[in-house]
This record gives sequence, C-alpha cells and structure tokens, in this order.
Amino acid sequence: MSKLDNIARPIIISGPCSAETEEQVMQTAKALKATGKINMLRAGIWKPRTRPNSFEGIGEIGLKWLVNAGKETDLPVITEVANPTHVEQALKAGFTHLWIGARTTVNPFTVQDIADSLAGTDTMVFVKNPVNPDLNLWIGAMERFFNAGLTEVHAIHRGFSAFKSDQYRNEPMWEIPISLKAAFPDSKLICDPSHICGRRDILEEVSQKAIDLAFDGLMIESHLTPDDAWSDAQQQITPEVLDQLLNNLIIRSVKIDDVAFSQSLESLRKKINELDQELIELIAKRMEVAEEIGTFKKMHNITILQPERWEEIKKLQIAAAEEHKLSRKFIIKYLEAIHQESIRHQTSIMNKK
Ligand code: PEP
Ligand code: MN
Repeated sequence: MSKLDNIARPIIISGPCSAETEEQVMQTAKALKATGKINMLRAGIWKPRTRPNSFEGIGEIGLKWLVNAGKETDLPVITEVANPTHVEQALKAGFTHLWIGARTTVNPFTVQDIADSLAGTDTMVFVKNPVNPDLNLWIGAMERFFNAGLTEVHAIHRGFSAFKSDQYRNEPMWEIPISLKAAFPDSKLICDPSHICGRRDILEEVSQKAIDLAFDGLMIESHLTPDDAWSDAQQQITPEVLDQLLNNLIIRSVKIDDVAFSQSLESLRKKINELDQELIELIAKRMEVAEEIGTFKKMHNITILQPERWEEIKKLQIAAAEEHKLSRKFIIKYLEAIHQESIRHQTSIMNKK
C-alpha cells in the first residue's frame, strides 16, 4: 500500500526545472493547479549542472517559495536533494517528498548518506535512474532507502546518457525501467519524458509510450515562459501546453476486467506460450548443429569465428526478416545473440580436453 494508491493513474508531477523567483514558482503552481490534472508540484532548488558557470539553482531560499506554493494550491511539493545538508534544509522547510537525481543515484556513498539522514522520517522518496544504464545501481539505491526504514520509495525513469543519440537527450532503454518495476512491484514507476527527450516536440509520444508500458505516472517540466527558463529551456512547456498534452494522452488500463476479453486474451496467450516453446526447441536444435560444426572446426584446427560466414548469415537472414516485416534493428540484435550463444557452445567444444 502506498499513499499514492488513491490517485487515479497516471500520477502527474509538474513544475519548472528550476525555481527561479518567488513569483515564478507561485504563478506556475497556480497555472498548473488550474488544469485540474496535477498531483504534485516540482522545482529544482539545487541544480546539478554538467558544466560550471551555468545556473546552479537558487538554493535554500527557494524552499519556502515552493512550500508556500504548495500550501496555496493544496498540492504536495517535491524537490531534489543531493546530500544530507540539502535533506536537513528541505525537511526544516516542511518538505515531505524528495527526489534523488540521476547524478546522485550513481554514487552509493552519497545515496547511503542521504538515506541515513532520512531514517526515522516518513519522507516519500523518488529515486531517479542513474545516468548510466546500470539496473543494479538503481535497485541498490532503492534498497538503501527501504533499508533506512522508509516505506514510500518510488522510481523515476529519466533515460540514460549516451555518447551520441540523434533522437533523445537521454536514451530511454525501456527494458531497464520494466525490469526495475518487476523488482519493486509495489513502488510507483514514474516516467520523466522531459529529461529523456530534451526537446518539446516528442514529449507527447514518449509520454504515451510510458503509459502504454504501464508506467504509473509522469513527471513533466513546465515553465510559464519556457524559452526564458534558466535551465533546460528547450524541453519545458507552458502549463497550457501540458494541459493539452495530457488531454491528448490515451490512458489504457493496466488491469483487465472484461471477462470475454480476458478469455480470448487467454487463448491467444496460450498460443504465444506454445510458439515460445517451439522457438526454444528450435534454438536448442540450432545449437546442436553448431556444436557439430565446432567439433569439425576443432579437428581441422580452424577458428570459431569465420568472418565471411557470419556476414553471409546476416545478409541472408536480414533479407528474410525484411520480407516478414521484422525490423532490421530487431533482427540484428537477435542474430548477434544467437551467434554469441553458438560461439559459447563451440568454445566449450574447443576447450574440451
Ligand atoms: C531535474 O529533474 O531537473 C534533473 C536535474 O533531473 P536528472 O537528475 O534526471 O538530470
Ligand atoms: Mn531539468
């Protein structure tokens, strides 16, 4: 059970990237409240910036701006803490909700210090994924807060740093948050499309994707005049645009309660299970043949990897896959996985005394 269970899905958290002025925080809060769709107000007070000499947050003075805006709009407020001093100041100002930023989650020492400083309180903590795609680091950070005795520990998916990405600021790598949800089924999983996209034009499609992947909520940055924002200007949207975006979302239900639908789904799922079983058996057969080839290669003293043959397999199968409308990206991933497994089987044949 979570205090968030009584909020209809999706839980919406919004507010500016950074608190800039008292007026801005209050006006944004009121405009967001007016949409009738917001469940929690956010604003960064201490900003972790990639390069120095950019705006690093308004600091402690902004805490009470946010608390007052929360009182005025009757909404809970949340901000990012990155060390025990931030925690102490935020708790003193009256915060009961805090988030841990992506650059903090990477460091178990800092996470532990923050968790220790929260022990004995009933703060609700949202843990953003670490900047690097390391599921265990994310799980570990969640565990540190649970171990400190907190009961409301939730997760925010904000994507992962990539050296290069043409589409996203941070790659979503959806399979990672899906695995996190499996590890913490009772925690809420919130998607932060703002930091995934880094731009406005694809916020809606990423939000819809998160909803369709059964996320519990969204954290979207909102600013009264986004182009003038002191941080993350390109990705922020006005409360009016946010309202429209939320109106456009199709909220599909995670639970199935229609009996007839549930039965036909069941029979289709049975088919899927049978096909999956057949696939496993076929792959196992393929590995048996790969082992035979391995024995042959060993006898003739030739290498496991035959680059030309590997290129030929890829060419053949990519063409076949395209005919069946399977994406190139998928088929390459699949072939590489099969190839690696074949190599593993042949390696064990080669190493056999
Ligand atoms: C933020 O939410 O403004 C922020 C700094 O996020 P992240 O830690 O995901 O970069
Ligand atoms: Mn931001």
